Amino acid sequence: MELYILGSGTCIPTVERGPSGLALAFGSHLILFDGGGGSLRNLPSLSLDFRRVDCLCITHFHPDHVSDFVPFLFAMNYTVDFVRSLPLHVIGPKGLRNFYDQLRGIFGRWIEARTYPILFHETEESLLSFADFTIETLPMAHSAASVGFRAMFQGRSLVYSGDTDYCQNIVKLGREADVLILECSFPDERKTAGHLTPSLAGKIAREASCRKLLLTHFYPVFAGRDILKECRQEFSGTIILAEDGMQITI
Ligand SMILES: [Zn+2]
Ligand SMILES: [Zn+2]
Repeated sequence: MELYILGSGTCIPTVERGPSGLALAFGSHLILFDGGGGSLRNLPSLSLDFRRVDCLCITHFHPDHVSDFVPFLFAMNYTVDFVRSLPLHVIGPKGLRNFYDQLRGIFGRWIEARTYPILFHETEESLLSFADFTIETLPMAHSAASVGFRAMFQGRSLVYSGDTDYCQNIVKLGREADVLILECSFPDERKTAGHLTPSLAGKIAREASCRKLLLTHFYPVFAGRDILKECRQEFSGTIILAEDGMQITI
């Protein structure tokens, strides 16, 4: 599996980081996990073909995670010499279909899926089995219906928290994951409810016994701070700090 960081920040604009977005390529599949503004544009920058995306996994409905859903749907309709027939699976929290319907109410035919089916999977605690991979979800401690994801393919596993505070569900979901991707919004001294800090992320990684920890979703307040040092207080394994455009083999 190849993991690509499309955005490692939030909606607050900085030169270095765009809003949250991950791409995971394996077998014939290309899966997106969240897609804040700019994520879609970063696919061609990483030589990834947006037309191949067969699954969107959305953790919750905050703008830094979903705002590129609209341009994605637009691109499916208006790319010259491309008619999409590939079904699109969209996996996310309760309210997913309503979210799409409301967007369709605003943008109408510009984003409406006309040549391909969209298959919505509204999840809380679930295990979805596809032809050659599985997606497991558990509720996270963030917004009313936020979920985290665990993708499994040929014995390899990737776990993504989306936004969350410390909770047992992310420890459970991340158990012995090959890569555990955790949000890391604020430094330890600026702990904010509903989000993790480097040391809390390290505590989760240690309790889950993951193989690698990848930290992402950095607010600009981290500029110039030693994130690794704060995280190392709790976790002695491999820690990677996400950067936009980074590629990791799992
Ligand atoms: Zn959020
Ligand atoms: Zn966020």
